[in-house]
Amino acid sequence: MNWLKKFMYGRYGADQLSRALLILSFILIIIGGFLPSNLSSLVIIGYIPTVMCIFRIFSKNIFKRKQENYKYLKWENSVTKWGKQKLNRAKDSKTHKYFTCPDCKQQLRVPRGQGKISVTCPKCKKSFKGKS
Ligand SMILES: [Zn+2]
Repeated sequence: MNWLKKFMYGRYGADQLSRALLILSFILIIIGGFLPSNLSSLVIIGYIPTVMCIFRIFSKNIFKRKQENYKYLKWENSVTKWGKQKLNRAKDSKTHKYFTCPDCKQQLRVPRGQGKISVTCPKCKKSFKGKS
């Protein structure tokens, strides 16, 4: 394994973005398997993320790769946050109603079944009427 250590010395190696690229590749190749035969040459697109992943692992421009990974992690974080929010909302949509403050766009959650109510935004103190 010494030659591998030597070979990888000064190279970037794997990170979260590389892993995500591999997963993306895998998904694209699977989807490609369902394409009609006249479009089957599109499967090659599925290998592009793999090539990018390999390039990143062996890259010696560590600074640039780190920046890419940082950007990716930021993006991934916002996507998971958004997804969790949607999931939570779907979960308690029977018991709670959501309002968006007309002033500051803050999301407000109120219990359902209270008829017409006056909602006060805790952030900007703006009051508005809504049906719960
Ligand atoms: Zn507000």
